[in-house]
Parts: sequence; structure tokens; C-alpha cells
Amino acid sequence: MRLSQSFIKTLRSAPKDETARGAQYLSRAGYIYKELAGVYDYLPLGLRVLDNIKTIVREELNNIGAEECLMSTLQNPEPWIKTDRWDIEKMDIWFRTQLAAGGELGLGPTHEEPFTEMLRNYVSSYKDLPFAVYQIQTKFRNELRAKSGIMRGREFLMKDMYSFCATTEDHDKFYHEAEKAYMRIYDRLGIGNDTYETFASGGVFSKYSHEFQTICEVGEDNIYYNKDKSVVLNEEVLIDEVMNDLGVKRDELEMTKAAEVGNIFTLGTKFSAPLGLEFTDQAGERKPVLMGCYGIGISRVMGVIAEKMCDDKGLVWPENIAPYKYYLIGIGDEGMKKAEELYHGREEEILFDDRDLRPGEKFTDAELMGIPYRVVVSDKTLADGKAEVTDRKTGETKLVALTEIF
Ligand code: ATP
Ligand code: MG
Repeated sequence: MRLSQSFIKTLRSAPKDETARGAQYLSRAGYIYKELAGVYDYLPLGLRVLDNIKTIVREELNNIGAEECLMSTLQNPEPWIKTDRWDIEKMDIWFRTQLAAGGELGLGPTHEEPFTEMLRNYVSSYKDLPFAVYQIQTKFRNELRAKSGIMRGREFLMKDMYSFCATTEDHDKFYHEAEKAYMRIYDRLGIGNDTYETFASGGVFSKYSHEFQTICEVGEDNIYYNKDKSVVLNEEVLIDEVMNDLGVKRDELEMTKAAEVGNIFTLGTKFSAPLGLEFTDQAGERKPVLMGCYGIGISRVMGVIAEKMCDDKGLVWPENIAPYKYYLIGIGDEGMKKAEELYHGREEEILFDDRDLRPGEKFTDAELMGIPYRVVVSDKTLADGKAEVTDRKTGETKLVALTEIF
């Protein structure tokens, strides 16, 4: 992308109620634009980051055999009434649309109900099971605590996956596959070392659920961990019974701030029973399908990475999810001409700062935007057939032969 052709300009200040450093940088560097509390636009650079995160998530989920769908955002009240989740007293996060002709539709806050309802048309026998479906979609929740930038949106991108099995063995097997896929996802996103699978409260169908919590100063959750025993639990299950179960004592657990970047949950027949998603088993008996649900906060992950990977100059994206790999600057007539040549054919990798600005301003923007490698070609470096390459993370600068940069 040529910056001279983009509408993006870095800004001196972020919206004044944006308190976290990463969130401020995302606004100032032109990744996101704040519309309302918890409501953001994703600008060209931000969209590329989201797309990179989505690609990693898709690859790992397709790898465990899950199939991608895209469900509707507008929600028919019927299935939600059947599961007792339409009532605003019980679900105060609903956004609803008032129809001019009378009646109401909802904007999906999650999708257990529509998936379960839709799948009644496709599942009839044990032979149709097991399988898993997922989608990456915008969710709507009127969150009261929408104060953490894109980490808690009222409109946000979620990956939600659902598994459908005939037996608990099959369910447990898929659940375990999903746990492993999740850790591979967080590894590839560059937060694997700081992300812990955390015991959380379960429901009627299993004692525990699991959250994936990334250590983060501005996270909203407290987690309690013991590295030696590899045990991590969240605040809800910090009780004697659970600590006994997991073989840890309270004084062996250390507290830290974290952000929930995903969670997985055994649903059992919680949705399949009231909505009538059933199958005929081998003995000819009708039974409700056993379900699991598996979420990842796509936009929250972007926010968490921005918070964790930044310094006093700006963002520091890991290469896997950076919007571009190189930030290219040409200085002087020869430098500019060479930069044009280098850019040609590498438009997808390079953010080319061909604007009519002083080099100093370009350097500042390169740092604020957090592009992994800054490449500068000037009349001086060209004398040796080289370019100056600076690593955003380490600040290290090297002179590299033009033929060996990319
Ligand atoms: P939280 O406790 O943070 O509200 P949740 O338990 O409501 O999360 P789920 O409904 O299971 O979360 O959603 C799955 C994932 O979506 C979460 O693990 C989180 O990463 C992300 N998520 C949930 N709510 C939001 C939000 N308001 N904004 C951005 N991401 C969110
Ligand atoms: Mg919530």
C-alpha cells in the first residue's frame, strides 16, 4: 500500500476516554476509529490485522475438521423463547430491533439457538454425528463495562464453534482436540507463552469449563496460578473443593491480571433438549444431541496483543499478524527511485511511505504503526548497494544488500 494514496493519517491524540496504552496507539496509528463506547470501525490497517488473526484461527479449526458457516445476525425470537433467553430480565445485554410493522427481532449476542434450530433439519441419525461448525461473525451485546477499547466491545468479532456428538466419548475427544487447537492458535498469534488454560465453572453437564486467559495488565479478570503444578484457575472456582480437586493450596497460588481470549464449554443437552435437536441411536432410541461451544474473541485478541506488544514509541506487531511486514522509506532522488523499484511487485508485503514528508516524520509513523521491519534506502546507503533495515522489536539496525532484504 502507498501511504500517499491512503486516507490514513497518524493522530497526535487518542479519544480522551481511551485509557490503555495499546488502545491509544491503535487509534492514533489509524487502525481503529471509535464511534461510541464499545463500538469501533476497523480501518485498512486494522482490518488487515483482523484478517491475519482470522486466517490463523480458520487454519487451525479446519485442521480439526470443523466447517465454517456464516449465520444471520438478525434473530428470530422463537428459539430464544424456548431456551428462556429472550427475556430481558434474564439477558440484559440484548440489542433488539423494533420493527415498523410491529414485533421485534434480536441482534445475535451468541449463536447456540440458531445453530441448534438450523441443524434440526440436517441431523436425524447417529450416523450424522459427530461434527463441528464455526463462524466468525459480529456479535452484539450491550455490555455495561464497555471501557477497555476493543477488548470489550458492544459490537465485536467472535469466532464461535459448536460441536455435536452422540456420545460423551466423542464429545470429550473433540473437546480435547479443540483445547490443543486453541493453544496452537495462541502460539501462532504470539501470545502462547502468556496464555493459560484456566479452570472455570462448568454447568449441569460438566464440573468445569475452560477459559484461555492471557496475562495482561489491563485485563478485567484475576487468575490464580501455580507454574510448578501447571494449575490455573479463575476467581469463580477459587474455593476449597476445587483447590482440593486440583491438588493446590491457596497459598501456592499467585494472582495476576488477565484477559479472557477464549473459552470452551460442555453444553450437554442444554440447548438440544428444549429445541428438539435429536438423533436416533443404534438401538433405535431418540436422544438429544450432546453439544459443546468454543469461543475466541477475535477483536479482543487484537486488543490484547496491542496492549502486550507495545513500547513508548508505539505498537510492535508480531510478524504473523502485522498488517505489512516492511515499512519502506526512500530518501533523496536516488533513494526514492530505488524505493519505487523495490515496492513494485511486493505491494502486499510493503507499506510504502511515499508521502512528501520529512524522513523524521516517517520514522515516527513507522514506529507508531509497529510494522516489523523499517527499510530505508537513501543516496548514502545506495552507494554500497545497500538499505538500512531496522527491527521494530529490538531497534537493531543493519545495512543489508538490496538483493537480500526481502
Ligand atoms: P467475558 O467474561 O469477558 O464477558 P464471556 O464469558 O461473556 O466473556 P463468551 O460469551 O463465552 O464470553 O464469548 C467468547 C469469547 O468472546 C470470550 O472468551 C472473549 O474472548 C470474547 N468476548 C466476549 N465478550 C466480548 C466483548 N464484549 N468484546 C470483545 N470480546 C468479547
Ligand atoms: Mg460476557
